[in-house]
Amino acid sequence: MSIKKLPDNVIKLIAAGEVIDSFTAVVRELVENSLDAKASRIVISLYPESWSLQVADNGEGMEEEDLLMAIQPHTTSKITSTDDLTKIHTLGFRGEALHSIAQLADLNITSRVKDSCGWEMITHQTQVIKCYPKAIAVGTIIHVSNLFGNIPLRRQVNPEFKKQLKSISILISELALCHPLVTWQLFVDDKLIFHISGNNNLTKIFPQLLKTVKYSDLEERDITLNTPYENNLSSLKLVLGMPDRVSRPRNDWVKIGVNGRVVKCPELESPIYSTFHRTLPRDRYPLIFIHLQTSPRQIDWNRHPAKAEIYLDNVDFWQETIKENIEQIFKLTDNNLSTKFENKRVEKIFKVAENKAIYNVDNLPQEIEENQDNLGLINLQVIAQARNTYIVAEHSEGIWLIEQHIAHERILYENLKNQWQIVNLENPIILNKLLPKQVENLGNLTLDIDCFGEDLWAIRSIPSALLNRADCLDALIELSWGGDIDSAQVSIACRTAIRNGTKLTIKQMQNIVNDWKMTKNPHTCPHGRPIYLSLEESSLYRFFRRHWVLGKSHGIETPKESKK
Ligand code: ADP
Ligand code: MG
Repeated sequence: MSIKKLPDNVIKLIAAGEVIDSFTAVVRELVENSLDAKASRIVISLYPESWSLQVADNGEGMEEEDLLMAIQPHTTSKITSTDDLTKIHTLGFRGEALHSIAQLADLNITSRVKDSCGWEMITHQTQVIKCYPKAIAVGTIIHVSNLFGNIPLRRQVNPEFKKQLKSISILISELALCHPLVTWQLFVDDKLIFHISGNNNLTKIFPQLLKTVKYSDLEERDITLNTPYENNLSSLKLVLGMPDRVSRPRNDWVKIGVNGRVVKCPELESPIYSTFHRTLPRDRYPLIFIHLQTSPRQIDWNRHPAKAEIYLDNVDFWQETIKENIEQIFKLTDNNLSTKFENKRVEKIFKVAENKAIYNVDNLPQEIEENQDNLGLINLQVIAQARNTYIVAEHSEGIWLIEQHIAHERILYENLKNQWQIVNLENPIILNKLLPKQVENLGNLTLDIDCFGEDLWAIRSIPSALLNRADCLDALIELSWGGDIDSAQVSIACRTAIRNGTKLTIKQMQNIVNDWKMTKNPHTCPHGRPIYLSLEESSLYRFFRRHWVLGKSHGIETPKESKK
């Protein structure tokens, strides 16, 4: 589509212009243009000393007349009328960025469209100095030099380059997640800073961005949805670090992408925090990226001039969808078993060669009837107890060790959350020597407490889970030291769960396992500790090097060997 000047009525409707105030802002505008031009390879080169930078892409490119038009104010190929404002499928649409950059720097743009001649254009303060044919590959290279040369103050207030490099890296990481087909390279003074290879697989992009995250720690979902509005097809892509394996020391990786760009949308973050509630250790945060793609009509980009915040229609629908999908990932179903074989061919041969060795839970004595509400949950058969602490259970693809105390704690915690009940006591429990703060804390938990004499307090109602427990008094003292109802529930669950070191029968353990696998968050206890260790067949066969023998005998090289 060719570049045209926007009519005045459209210009009036578009919120505040582009803010080109830093290196980062220039990079953002240029790479967004590359993405709009459907580039699959984008190379960014920064030269901070000389205030110059370059973005090269293999996108659709521009014809000569478009090239000349592109740096004029309010010129764009992406929309033409007010009507189009509700149908925006591109990242840009205001037609201002190249013009603003051309005002603030000298530009050298070379570009070529398929089956046409390439052009090079040189500009100084929006004036075209030269424009002539140039032999280049299809795509566009925009070289920006002498940035802010005519506004020395803007150079002075620009954040130091180290900070800018950080924000540019975050920007590229976020765009890489929203556009997983694209391969990126970032150079500073011709030194490669990072490379992200896009292969349309989000779980494979994450480990390239965060060295501490492993492919097998992540779960991905890609869902196409029939939205209840506009009769419209939308999609939701979701990648998250499983809470028993990944967490962040800072809250820096809860990211929401909407139609191609990471944005701030607190309304969509809240269902994430509520589903991750009490699954991670204290002061740790989730790693999650959600990308929703929906009708442009549902999104108002004019909440922020840099399009960093949006208003989204039908928020309830998206909140529910996000919540449901995270909950689904947390479920212990057969589909969720992450048997991520890296060599598919070896996997196939392995399955053929070792068919008989496959775990066969159905042949084990079935002492306990499976719960009918299992809904596709994994069939875990308890076979033993180790050290009076670990429940050993087998399923069709491996062996799990489940720590009995915290599995039980998870069950009790969720039960308490679902039915938190304060019950009246026939005979009050008498506590003595409480500090005023302790009395206040117990009152805050809605327990009925009153003064019973000097230094004595009568507790007339308690959480039902503590009824008839020998350690009820200790539990009440513990609760009196503070915390909200949620922490009271955690502490009661911990106190009342079966201790490690307790001998259990197979039947008792199977009951625990059956209840535990029905919980909402079976992966971690409410303190964030992992509940089970899985020894999946896929890792066992790797450990015992069965793939090595099989691979050799079938003439397949493993990736490591081929590197040698
Ligand atoms: P907008 O992106 O809002 O349309 P810009 O000022 O950023 O406005 O760009 C103006 C126009 O220049 C775009 O509409 C597009 O047609 C063209 N353009 C800019 N960068 C590129 C690029 N890398 N590849 C192809 N076309 C581009
Ligand atoms: Mg643009």
